[in-house]
Amino acid sequence: VFVAFEGGEGAGKTTQARLAAIWLRDHGYDVVTTHEPGATKIGMRLRAMLLDKQNTGLSARAETLLYAADRADHVANVIRPALERGAIVVSDRYVDSSLAYQGYGRRQPVNEIAGVNAWATEGLVPDLTVLLEVPPDTGLGRLASPADRMESEPREFHERVREGFRALADADPDRYLVVDASLPQSEISRMVQDRIREILPD
Ligand code: C5P
Ligand code: MG
Repeated sequence: VFVAFEGGEGAGKTTQARLAAIWLRDHGYDVVTTHEPGATKIGMRLRAMLLDKQNTGLSARAETLLYAADRADHVANVIRPALERGAIVVSDRYVDSSLAYQGYGRRQPVNEIAGVNAWATEGLVPDLTVLLEVPPDTGLGRLASPADRMESEPREFHERVREGFRALADADPDRYLVVDASLPQSEISRMVQDRIREILPD
């Protein structure tokens, strides 16, 4: 079982992924929590390149390919092996982040980004994607200070990203749980648990 958490900056993905993993472990499941970008050794170097504030001139296509390279390594070395041994994988971000940020955010053709990522992941799609929905102002406001390249993008960029995530969820409602990220943490985690329960093996 593969669950991904998606959403814009400050939506609470990391927190909710952690809470879901704790809950699953309490119920005796073998759980691997992971994140993108930067979950592998090479991935950490790619993450540094992608988010370094100095790298202002990075072209949109190169950015897309670096995220896809990170993801390919992540799938091959972390996610697939874990799924193959029967673990539940909970990831903070996955392919939909690229569709939203590099596709909708950077205005690159979403179907082409999807193609690159389908190749990078050998077609691995989550069983469930939890979209934590937060207005950019609220989300960015939750961050202590703009720490990387992306957080200094204009507001309109983050608006497009948010709309992108929504469009992706609307196009594939069976795979998505969309949650209002402004709800209390405990309420969100309960909604997530209810949804995950439906896809758990007995
Ligand atoms: O989730 P996390 O905060 O670690 O993400 C790091 C940064 O990478 C964020 O600022 C996010 O906007 C950016 N990002 C991106 N494109 C992706 C995934 C993440 O621009 N596909
Ligand atoms: Mg986070």
